Amino acid sequence: MQPTKCDLIIKGSYILTQDEDRKLIKGGAVAISGSDISAVGISTEIESGWIADEVVDCGKSVIMPGLINSHTHVPMTLMRGVADDLPLLDWLHNYMFPIESGLTKDLVELGARIGCAEMIAGGTTAFIDGYMYEDMVGKAVDEAGMKAVLGEGFFKFPSPFFKTAQDAWDEIENLNAQFSENARIKTAITPHAVFTTDPDQLAESMEIAERMDLLWQIHAAESVPETELTLNTFGKRPVEILKEYGLLRERTRLHHCVDVTDEEIGWIMESGAMVAHNPQSNLKLGSGICPLTKLLEAGIHCGLGTDGAASNNNLDMFDEMRTAAMLQKGFLQNPEAMPAQTVLDMATVNGARFLGFEDTGALNTGMKADIIVINMDKMHLKPVYNPLSHAIYSAGGQDVCLTVCDGKVLYQNGKFSTLDVETISREAEKAVEWALRRLEKR
Ligand SMILES: [Zn+2]
Repeated sequence: MQPTKCDLIIKGSYILTQDEDRKLIKGGAVAISGSDISAVGISTEIESGWIADEVVDCGKSVIMPGLINSHTHVPMTLMRGVADDLPLLDWLHNYMFPIESGLTKDLVELGARIGCAEMIAGGTTAFIDGYMYEDMVGKAVDEAGMKAVLGEGFFKFPSPFFKTAQDAWDEIENLNAQFSENARIKTAITPHAVFTTDPDQLAESMEIAERMDLLWQIHAAESVPETELTLNTFGKRPVEILKEYGLLRERTRLHHCVDVTDEEIGWIMESGAMVAHNPQSNLKLGSGICPLTKLLEAGIHCGLGTDGAASNNNLDMFDEMRTAAMLQKGFLQNPEAMPAQTVLDMATVNGARFLGFEDTGALNTGMKADIIVINMDKMHLKPVYNPLSHAIYSAGGQDVCLTVCDGKVLYQNGKFSTLDVETISREAEKAVEWALRRLEKR
C-alpha cells in the first residue's frame, strides 16, 4: 500500500501518549497533518504508512503532550523577583497592586510575550490566564502560536481598570468577540477573589458566564489570612460564600483551595467545579499546602498551575509537576501519595478539560498536534528505566528541545519560530526601571 502524505513526522525513543490506556511506546513516531495528529505508533509502522514533507528525528528523547498550565497571570513575568519572601496580603497590597495600577497595554503585552516565550521553551502549549488588558495577552498568544483561555480580571468597582460594573462587562464582551473566530483562544469570566469583589458582583458575573457559555474562574481559599479577611467582611468563609451565591457550578474553576474544610470539599465535588493546584506559589507565599490528595480522592477534577511568575518565580510546568508530586508525599508522610502518573495527568489530559480544550492533552489520532519533546541525551536523564519517572522527577523545562502547537513548530533546539526573543529581552530590561519607579511612588 502507498504511504499516505502528511506534513510532519516526529520521531523519538519513547512516547508518553497520555491516551486512555496511558500507553508508552518505545521507538515511536507521530504523524501530523495540518493541526491534527494523523497517527501515533512505532516508528517503523508510522514511516511505512506515512510520508512527510519534514521528518524531525529527536534521537534519545521522550515525545509527550504539550503541558497545560491551569492557573497563571502571564504578564506578571514583569514582576518576577521584584518582591520575594513576603506574606500574600502584604505582597499583593504593597507590591503587586501599586505596580499593576500603573500598567499600560504595551507593558502587559511585553509581560505576556516574556511569559509565552518562557512557556514555549519549557514545553507548555496552553494556559488559562487572569489579568488586565487580556486583549494584549491574546495578541501575544496568537502571535506566539499557543493556546489560552483569557480572563479579564476585575475587582470591587471602581478599580484602577473599571469604574463601573458595566465597563467591565463591556470589556469582557469585547474580548470574547475579538477572539470568537480564533480556535486557539477562548475567554473566561474572571473575578479576582471573594475578598476583593462583592458577592452580588460575583453573582452578576456568573449570569454573564451562563449567558455567554464561558468558564468562570476565581482565586478561592488561597490562605488562612484570606479566609479571616472574608470572615471579617462577610461573616462567611470564601467557599461558603461561593456556595451560598450559587457560584459553585460545572463551569467554575477555583484556583488554590488551600484552606478548605472537608464539608467545602464535598460541596465542590458535588457541584462539578474544578480546582487548580499551585504548589510552588502556595509554598513561596507561605499560603500553606493544598489538601490535593483529599480533593482527588473526593473525585474533584484538578489541574496544575504555576500561578504568576512573581510568586513562583517561573512558569516551568516540569518544575511544578515535580513539586506537586513531592509535596503531598512529605505533607502526608506517605511516599505513595501523588504518583508520577497522577501528576502528569493533571498537567496534560486533566488540564485540557480544565481549560475546556477537549481535543488536546493526549497524543491520539484526531487530537490536536500539541506536542513537546524532552531531549534525553543529558547526564541528569541517564540511564532511562522509566520515561514517566524522568518526566516528573528528573527533567526540567530546559530539557525541552521541540514544542509544537496545532501542528506548528514553535520552538526547536533553542530557536523560536514565532517570537523575537532578542527584542523581548531588551524591552524586559527597560520594564525593570519602570516597575521600580512605581514602587518609589507608593
Ligand atoms: Zn493567581
